[in-house]
Amino acid sequence: MKINELLQALKDVEINCSEEQLNLLNVFMKSTLETNEKFNLTAITKDDEFVEKMIYDSALSLYDLDLTNKSIIDVGTGAGFPGMVIKILKPESKVTLLDSTKKKIDYLLDFAKTNNIEVEGVSSRAEDYARNNREKYDFATARAVSQLNILLELIIPMLKVGGSFIALKGQGYEEEINSSKEAFRRLNCRVQKIYEFELPESHEKRAIIHIVKDKETNKKYPRQYTDIKRQPL
Ligand code: SAH
Repeated sequence: MKINELLQALKDVEINCSEEQLNLLNVFMKSTLETNEKFNLTAITKDDEFVEKMIYDSALSLYDLDLTNKSIIDVGTGAGFPGMVIKILKPESKVTLLDSTKKKIDYLLDFAKTNNIEVEGVSSRAEDYARNNREKYDFATARAVSQLNILLELIIPMLKVGGSFIALKGQGYEEEINSSKEAFRRLNCRVQKIYEFELPESHEKRAIIHIVKDKETNKKYPRQYTDIKRQPL
């Protein structure tokens, strides 16, 4: 997908993007690809593929989501996907970008400063941050970070009651949901909506899963990462 085809592609899925926002997304792509040459940020390095699989794909998380004056944390944001794309397309949201790799957060904060974008950056492991930032966010996102049952334990504690985790998943998401039954039960959350998409050029399948939190999370979650990994919910 060419960058100038992105506007129409987003319009087709009811996601607004102005010319100005498109320019900023383009600057973000160039900056990320340039930084990639110094240290590895993303696996995708060709412009056209980047537009489709990083930017368009990230923007799909905004489908049927009203972020006006809402707080959202992107867990395992890497080089800012979907978090920075969300902030560019919805500047009125309050975005926190979290990743355990400090150089990625430093890169994102540097890019944000240069381009007058207001985001918060946190370099921490999600489970450590979640323990001290409970019931705090309206929304959370995660893309390509971990399997769903593990993500739920990391993310649900950070959400306010009534808040939602917007999970960006690919093919096979149904199995992930099925394997997460115990996690949904213990963490008092449930699947509210699922939106399926197909990327326009590669025809890869995507699912945006809205998971709503119904009750406060028991203080014992999240556990230490070794326990989460060894014995996922
Ligand atoms: N979301 C980005 C990056 C995916 S790669 C994208 O879609 O392109 C996964 C990222 O998650 C890496 O940057 C890694 O540092 C981070 N990560 C993995 N487990 C994490 C954890 N427990 N806490 C914080 N960050 C984590």
